[in-house]
Amino acid sequence: MSLETLVENPSIPAESGVSVPYDPEGFDTSVMSTYGRYPLALERGAGCRLWDTEGREYLDFVAGIATCTLGHAHPALVETVTRQIQTLHHVSNLYYIPVQGELAKWLIEHSCADRVFFCNSGAEANEGAIKLARKYAHTVKGIQKPIILTAHASFHGRTLATITATGQPKYQKNFAPLMPGFFYVPYNDIGAIKNAIATLDEGDQNVTAIMLEALQGEGGVRPGDVKYFQELRKICDDNDILLILDEVQVGMGRSGKFWGYENLGIEPDIFTSAKGLGGGIPIGATMCKKFCDVFQPGDHASTFGGNPFACAVALTVCQTLEKENLLANVQERGEQLRAGLKAIASKYPDQISEVRGWGLINGMELNAETQLTSADVVNAAIANGVLLVPAGPKVIRFVPPLIVSAQEIDQALQAVEKAMAIITNG
Ligand SMILES: *Cc1c(COP(=O)(O)O)cnc(C)c1O
Repeated sequence: MSLETLVENPSIPAESGVSVPYDPEGFDTSVMSTYGRYPLALERGAGCRLWDTEGREYLDFVAGIATCTLGHAHPALVETVTRQIQTLHHVSNLYYIPVQGELAKWLIEHSCADRVFFCNSGAEANEGAIKLARKYAHTVKGIQKPIILTAHASFHGRTLATITATGQPKYQKNFAPLMPGFFYVPYNDIGAIKNAIATLDEGDQNVTAIMLEALQGEGGVRPGDVKYFQELRKICDDNDILLILDEVQVGMGRSGKFWGYENLGIEPDIFTSAKGLGGGIPIGATMCKKFCDVFQPGDHASTFGGNPFACAVALTVCQTLEKENLLANVQERGEQLRAGLKAIASKYPDQISEVRGWGLINGMELNAETQLTSADVVNAAIANGVLLVPAGPKVIRFVPPLIVSAQEIDQALQAVEKAMAIITNG
């Protein structure tokens, strides 16, 4: 079904008054085709709203994939971006960068971390975590072949080490040889962890770290189980294994707490952040609770990492989260969204099997038996003016900006309900 035929409420004219359909031909012949793109070209945004090149308005429940924490064109972001580019945007970590220190201090004060390393993306933050864990294994524990356990259906990025860490074969296919030293276990299964440790530790090979998401985002919006993570923490303590949490998607307030692990009643040894940290300006962070001094000058670096521009913006995102009391908004709007989605699910019991999530990271899972895919629902929602994103073939993900209002949640729910009505009537 084409978007055109589904659009019921199109063409709210752009302020410019121009309405020129975007022709993607030049784009498609110039840019590598690594993405399956929706036939949409977005031109401007404000708050939780976006407008395409034809002036159609959309409610943004994707937020650049859980990234635009403060939505679009937030006055605090505009102010900081403008001020910082006029002052100093990039130097080098060869010199002290005061605002980088301020951001690190903020993160330490609002987490269990003792030190921070700044980089530019989630994959890069996870690479830092992996290198830190391996250096710890070699230099502190004397392990020659350190092993990192990760979970099935996890997602940790697209570099070679992080596709290896990612427990989904579809991301690894055709990129062999992968990185040695990774083994996979089912998520939320403590017996599998015990079994892996018992069978993998031998000779100079040793389980050094366990790397997990507090809530699996891309793999289907699956929250971590509290009991599992508490037992896991104890196993890590008893066996001197590092617990690494990938907080790239669930961290920075999205779960209704600053960090996903706060929902689990545990603390990691190492954790990573990126997506929401800069509110849409690229920045990543590897944070470490213990063993921080394992990294010495020359061990790890990133040219752009922690530059004054990215750090000033991220600091503004962090301070605005607090100033606007956004964690409370995330909790309230999240409850509203889940209640509304559950009401829709109860009307479509043959199609929708579950609604789950924390704060403003939520998933609606489709029944395995239905023909319906997450792409069908997302396409129909777009046609009804709301942007959503799949998390796998059967889960629709809802990750709006953290500033989303009650009225905007209602509008999204109405669009989802309409989308379900359209696609189930065929
Ligand atoms: C998106 C994501 C990554 C990768 O982040 P990039 O910035 O795309 O490299 C890693 N881990 C998780 C949990 C993610 O959601």
